[in-house]
Amino acid sequence: MTAKVIDGKAFAANVRARVAEHVARLKEENGLVPGLAVVLVGEDPASKVYVKNKHASTIEVGMASFEHRLPTETGEAELLALIDKLNADPAVHGILVQLPLPGHLNSELVINRIDPAKDVDGFHISNVGLLGTGQKSMVPCTPLGCLIMLRDHHGKLAGLNAVVVGRSNIVGKPMAQLLLGDSCTVTIAHSRTKDLAEVCRRADILVAAVGRPEMITGEMVKPGATVIDVGINRIERAGKARLVGDVHYESAAAVAGAITPVPGGVGPMTIACLLANTLTACCRANGLAEPEGLTA
Ligand code: NDP
Repeated sequence: MTAKVIDGKAFAANVRARVAEHVARLKEENGLVPGLAVVLVGEDPASKVYVKNKHASTIEVGMASFEHRLPTETGEAELLALIDKLNADPAVHGILVQLPLPGHLNSELVINRIDPAKDVDGFHISNVGLLGTGQKSMVPCTPLGCLIMLRDHHGKLAGLNAVVVGRSNIVGKPMAQLLLGDSCTVTIAHSRTKDLAEVCRRADILVAAVGRPEMITGEMVKPGATVIDVGINRIERAGKARLVGDVHYESAAAVAGAITPVPGGVGPMTIACLLANTLTACCRANGLAEPEGLTA
């Protein structure tokens, strides 16, 4: 068997086009421009690239982008004051604080200062609680992207066995909540899980969010399963820098029914879902109908 490739790039292009269309309609019919504020503290090179990409993608779909670049030594009070200002600004519908923050800043305190309605990353404790209790919330972008692709591939997810490898607050746990919300039977595996291969082989849907290059191999995949590879790992092979997932692609693709590649799978959907969340936040803030198929 050779798995169907789930083309995250094409999915993301589709989501971005739907967002752009909705944004154009909001402008024309309601005089509204959804706005996303991104706050970057410090000089982390990867974070700088992410922020640059987010800015370009925001502009591309017709939204307003507000970038706030602060020096590494920025104090907590100053950062919290900026968040308060953005919370109060009616032109800003989404706020994202790029993580990781420099060590002297308390990420939890900073994230929980964001108005939950503007928390487009879905990391605020209120949104975590709302998601956990099955209520309307802002959903973290990476798991939301995975869910949209899974729903498209399977139609209904109800009753399927889902295994999520990884229990981080930004990927594993919200992913598991979303799959549970769609009535999957969900197992969360982690570094203390016994016989991980056997657990993984029970999965109709296997989501890998581990941060270990190519750890999930074909022999851990149930024949015909759908494999979602969240991992982004930079490795060097034969003297060349390469990007690989948490799944060993070749062996898994030989067994799976469908699989997301790395790159070109989950990654592109994450930014697309950030735009979708900003649009959703803008619609909610103005009492307007939310975009269809772009929320949980
Ligand atoms: P974390 O490091 O926060 O979490 C990793 C999880 O994997 C932990 O729960 C850990 O278990 C578990 N784990 C580690 N080793 C093993 C093992 N040997 N067996 C089973 N479980 C194990 O990572 P993130 O959730 O932040 O990210 C996961 C991956 O996804 C990374 O590669 C990251 O780069 C990528 N990523 C990709 C995004 C995208 O847009 N595509 C967005 C965000 C992340 P324990 O809790 O027991 O330590």
